Amino acid sequence: MTAGAQTILVVEDEASIASFVSLYLKNAGYDVRAVSTGSAALTHVASEQPALIILDLMLPDLDGIEICRRVRKTSDVPILMLTARDEDVDKIIGLEVGADDYLTKPFNPRELVARVKSVLRRSTPDRRRDIEEQELHHGELSINAGRREVKVGEEEIQLAPKEFDLLWELLDHRGLVLTRDQLLERVWGYTFAGDTRTVDVHVRQLRRKLGEASPIVTVWGVGYKVGPERSTAPAA
Ligand code: CA
Repeated sequence: MTAGAQTILVVEDEASIASFVSLYLKNAGYDVRAVSTGSAALTHVASEQPALIILDLMLPDLDGIEICRRVRKTSDVPILMLTARDEDVDKIIGLEVGADDYLTKPFNPRELVARVKSVLRRSTPDRRRDIEEQELHHGELSINAGRREVKVGEEEIQLAPKEFDLLWELLDHRGLVLTRDQLLERVWGYTFAGDTRTVDVHVRQLRRKLGEASPIVTVWGVGYKVGPERSTAPAA
């Protein structure tokens, strides 16, 4: 156990997945506790208060959605859901029950570690400051939060403030579908269902300005996402 390290609870009944996930998280400097049932997870959350939970959707006793609901009654601990297949779950159901992010199996363990870091960053009060120092990349596209600078290769692209914020939000949630209402809330600060055409208009502008470097994918009937970047890293 490392002094001061954050503890991550891994809830996964497949031993091979639980062990490689644990290994990668330990290598990234986290303390890891792994359990294989929903009831063990709830017991652990009640007594230990982990910094984050990685929660498999399909468990032998309670399913991940039910665990998520129960945890949310008492705790805001960040939850990252693991799902077996994209089609298994409505893209946003994890968010509706209060999960912070999800990954579809099979996933690259490095992607998992990146998501864990991102979720922990978003959940801490220092989030804003950390973001100031942050730079995100996707293919030819790089976006620097502190300088509010967007480049395609070496070429700088001028974006309006909300276009920048929208692009950042989608890139920071890479692989996750965000609905128009969620984007309105996160980027424009609306806490009610607003005029979602605003989102479409800004996405259209981003695509026009970024051209082929635009990473934004339309998910019909749901919203928008940024797809995972093609990677040469080994898949798990
Ligand atoms: Ca499982």
